[in-house]
Amino acid sequence: LFPIILHFIFSAATPYATLPSVLLVGPSGAGKTALLTLFERGPFAANPGSPEKLDAVAKTHTSQVPATIELAVSTDPSAASYRADLDAAGATAKKFLLVDTPGHPKLRGHALAHLSSTAPTVPTNTSSSSSSSPTQSKLKALIFLVDSAALSDPDSGALASTASYLYDVLLALQLRFHRRSGSRAPASVPVLVAANKTDLFTALPAALVRSQLEAELGRIRKSRSKGLLDSGVGADDVDAAAGGAGGEEADGWLGGYGTEKFSFKEMMEFDVEVEVLGGNVLGEGPGAEKWWKWIGERV
Ligand code: GDP
Repeated sequence: LFPIILHFIFSAATPYATLPSVLLVGPSGAGKTALLTLFERGPFAANPGSPEKLDAVAKTHTSQVPATIELAVSTDPSAASYRADLDAAGATAKKFLLVDTPGHPKLRGHALAHLSSTAPTVPTNTSSSSSSSPTQSKLKALIFLVDSAALSDPDSGALASTASYLYDVLLALQLRFHRRSGSRAPASVPVLVAANKTDLFTALPAALVRSQLEAELGRIRKSRSKGLLDSGVGADDVDAAAGGAGGEEADGWLGGYGTEKFSFKEMMEFDVEVEVLGGNVLGEGPGAEKWWKWIGERV
């Protein structure tokens, strides 16, 4: 009985240690800070069409360290809205942490380190005043935010740079799958590609964001494997790197081997579900409700 009581005391003393977390990643300018701010304000978020208020709040989050905020989503899926005042509604809620990560290429290592870790938990930065003080948290999902308007501009280079970051993120999750063993295995992490800024008339619709990213990921995959061949690594090694016996961790072939075109569905082989949903943080449009619902179903 004594050990049971001890266990109870310790688990009661660290209530935040097990809060699930959702990692927010994506290139600079995609709208991560804006989204974090929108969710943080919840029922107090500015109405669509009045971006000024949100921008003012977003400016408080400009540091380069990841910001972590604690949020709660209703356990009742039909009531899942980030605008819902859960206290007022007397609703039961699931708490989780939303962890923002820097989008600048030189600082992305932090986000990727979370993913390739073999630990089942993700350390969260607690410098944000609005968060509690968790040190470790179960990673439940990942949101990869993209700027759908930038993607539609072929001269911006946004497609190539966005896809290159997404490639690294998905590859880290693929390696995470290969490394898991035994009961301390990290659970699989579903990915939401959130196609942001659909309020802009130049924005690509979600279906096109999906197909363009898939095509670009396929191109990156091809050129990276060609790089391996050119560098003197034999074809057998490439095969092994792609998932052949014993070689899963060797190198960067994303998805199933032997396919010409890359498709997000290939990631299911590694237990990684990828969904693409459009939305917007500012302006007129569908807003962020679909993304919130997606999170609610996974935390
Ligand atoms: P971060 O670098 O990913 O944190 O991106 P920010 O949150 O700083 O957003 C970059 C810019 O995009 C800011 O000027 C935002 O106001 C703007 N932005 C973010 N979301 C939207 C959106 O849904 N629609 C439009 N039109 N602009 C947005």
